Amino acid sequence: MSHAVTRATFDEVMFPNYSPAGFIPVRGKGSRIWDQDGREFIDLAGGIAVNALGHCHPELVEALTEQAGKLWHVSNVFTNEPVLKLASRLVELTFADRAFFCNSGAEANEAAFKLARKYAADHVGAHKNEIIACTNAFHGRTLFTVTVGGQPKYTEGFAPVPAGVSHVPFNDIEALKNAISERTCAVVIEPIQGEGGVMPADKAYLEAARALCDEHGALLVFDEVQTGVGRSGALFAYMHYGVVPDILSSAKALGGGFPIGAILTTDKIAKSFGVGTHGSTYGGNPLASAVALRALEVLSRPEVLAGVESRRQQLVKGITELNDRYGLFSEIRGMGLLLGCVLKPAYAGRARDFLKAAEAEQLMVLVAGGDVVRLAPSLVIEPADIEAALLRFAAAMERFANA
Ligand SMILES: *Cc1c(COP(=O)(O)O)cnc(C)c1O
Repeated sequence: MSHAVTRATFDEVMFPNYSPAGFIPVRGKGSRIWDQDGREFIDLAGGIAVNALGHCHPELVEALTEQAGKLWHVSNVFTNEPVLKLASRLVELTFADRAFFCNSGAEANEAAFKLARKYAADHVGAHKNEIIACTNAFHGRTLFTVTVGGQPKYTEGFAPVPAGVSHVPFNDIEALKNAISERTCAVVIEPIQGEGGVMPADKAYLEAARALCDEHGALLVFDEVQTGVGRSGALFAYMHYGVVPDILSSAKALGGGFPIGAILTTDKIAKSFGVGTHGSTYGGNPLASAVALRALEVLSRPEVLAGVESRRQQLVKGITELNDRYGLFSEIRGMGLLLGCVLKPAYAGRARDFLKAAEAEQLMVLVAGGDVVRLAPSLVIEPADIEAALLRFAAAMERFANA
């Protein structure tokens, strides 16, 4: 079959900052995807933890098409009904009193970091501006968020970067204790480091971070862009841990595939974003908000969240059994339906080869760094699709092991 555009077109007209797979997906339904040639894939990647309700979930299609016929965009010169409903629901379901909306995870974190600095400036003084984050963290690709993210490869070549940002090893209470001071305005943590290798925080670490922030008057910021909106099996991962942040950022699954980001916080902190201090043209537009509202409604149903754990068990049990046979992974870690299969030292650095092997078996997976195969499927993936995916996972393991 010939197509008007092909993968080769990418290399001609797109920036070379991505290296997409050899096939082009054109259609999705649930946890299945079809490419230009009608080849069918099972999706355990979920658009990098975005499509929490799978592809073209009927309720999301309904919310989107209904709103598409009513009102798409009015700007924040006006407010709109969907955004007010979405904010109300988020406030009801979480620790927060207030929501701010934007369009992506990076923008949500950018807003969170700006808010933390502004809050400190308002209440203490401009000298209280230092942000402490974790090595190996990922917070997005704007200049500020790559700087706060703890992976030097993402800031190389982009200097000078914003000042006042330092990093401490993740899950290291002593290191945080030594780094935090009266100059610290925020401590930023992913409850589970996603891009950094699917590394869950220890409960004691988050508790210590909370206590240290309180002691030094710093805000605790949880980046829940990847872990939020049901991914961990709780609506937000902080609920799992019982540690409440001051600011929480969300995106990815929030819109179920429609771009939207948000930060949530308390009344007191939100006051530091007074009129004119921050904004976004598209942020909280009616179309994105209507879809996110429906996604949130579906995802916050108890049976949906409860279903995450049973799906997790099915997937982990299946991969563990396969691993007994093929012996590729030293560990399967993560929470809920954010799983990291850690390659044994003998296969170190070859996660991308596994992704390629899976692709050849018509299975979509993710990597998180060089050593971890990451899975972030739909939270409502059919158990039968998990079974089918495990067969392809086995074939991928075989292919990878024999390569
Ligand atoms: C994906 C991700 C981001 C960035 O989100 P974008 O929508 O790509 O800007 C930020 N933080 C975490 C934890 C993420 O996983």
